[in-house]
Amino acid sequence: MSRFFSEKYEGLSPYVPGEQPRGGRKFVKLNTNESPFPPSPKAVAAGIEAVNGLNLYSDPSCIELRRKASDVFGVGADNITCANGSDEVLNFAFSAFCDCGTPAVFPDVTYGFYPVFAAQNRVPFKEIPLKEDFSVDVERMAAEKGTLFIANPNAPTGVALSLEAIRFLLESDASRMVVVDEAYVDFGAESAVGLVGKYENLLVTQTFSKSRSMAGARLGFGFAQERVIADIETLRNSVNPYNVNSVTQAMGAGALEDEAYTRENCLVIEKNRDELSAYLKRRGFLLTDSKANFVFAAHPKIGGVGFYLKLRERGILVRHFGRPERIVDYNRITVGSREQTDVFEKAVDGILEEIL
Ligand code: PMP
Repeated sequence: MSRFFSEKYEGLSPYVPGEQPRGGRKFVKLNTNESPFPPSPKAVAAGIEAVNGLNLYSDPSCIELRRKASDVFGVGADNITCANGSDEVLNFAFSAFCDCGTPAVFPDVTYGFYPVFAAQNRVPFKEIPLKEDFSVDVERMAAEKGTLFIANPNAPTGVALSLEAIRFLLESDASRMVVVDEAYVDFGAESAVGLVGKYENLLVTQTFSKSRSMAGARLGFGFAQERVIADIETLRNSVNPYNVNSVTQAMGAGALEDEAYTRENCLVIEKNRDELSAYLKRRGFLLTDSKANFVFAAHPKIGGVGFYLKLRERGILVRHFGRPERIVDYNRITVGSREQTDVFEKAVDGILEEIL
């Protein structure tokens, strides 16, 4: 830290993204929940065309993209804000809907960026322990005062809440915001976007990084009623009105014209997830019931770090989290292509043979 760094950021501990190996050894990357498939050919073609217009600023209103999204998601274009990844919408939400008297409230095991967003925005936060079975303690969340942040499905557990539970949280206190982070919703959970018209206190975020294979393009959406969207837009336009570049806007619109491609890929991932889960269970692993594009697994005879390191030695990257204590024996494993899953399963067989 330089002597010029503002005191307000003293102790700020940034989010640590999953390893992105560059050059050197080739890894099978199952650590950041990316899609194993390329973006839709329609997205790619639209992006290539947009490159020629990069001499101009991108459309700060993302109007074409929002119109396409309006058709696909069944909400008005004014119910959508576009961002540089859903992380950006989430960050705006911490900024817009939390303050000293309105803490951020989220589960103790959830997306690791939430405490960082809270700290960066200098708002207090409270972590509510997941239940023993790793499900969100909806009753305890509902009893809290503050803005609720719920990843649905949750990460890194993959466990999903029903729409009924989301509705219960929304109705538990209509005077507070509920932010539902649906980064992984397309792999088998129920989306709350359809509830936006009914609940003024709902903000739903989604990303193009997972089901739409566009992690590197950085595109995310927020869905909410007009006035809530206007709050986010106020912040967005006070920071960077050009937050979504024109290639990404074009690619996003192209991807939304190819929902069949997205659906098909999600079905492959869901099938691979179910097969991978069955394999891991046969080998004695404990698993959560994941509705995401990853599984969360622990083996009673191998520590979480040990398993992570042994996979790494064999050229496979998965994600291990050092906190909280109750998940240190687990690893989060992205569900990839069938070929990647085969390599992973072979490596696991080798590790188990060595250890047991
Ligand atoms: N929410 C959750 C639960 C995530 O795991 C991620 C991806 N790391 C995000 C949001 C953010 O995704 P992106 O910024 O790529 O849209």
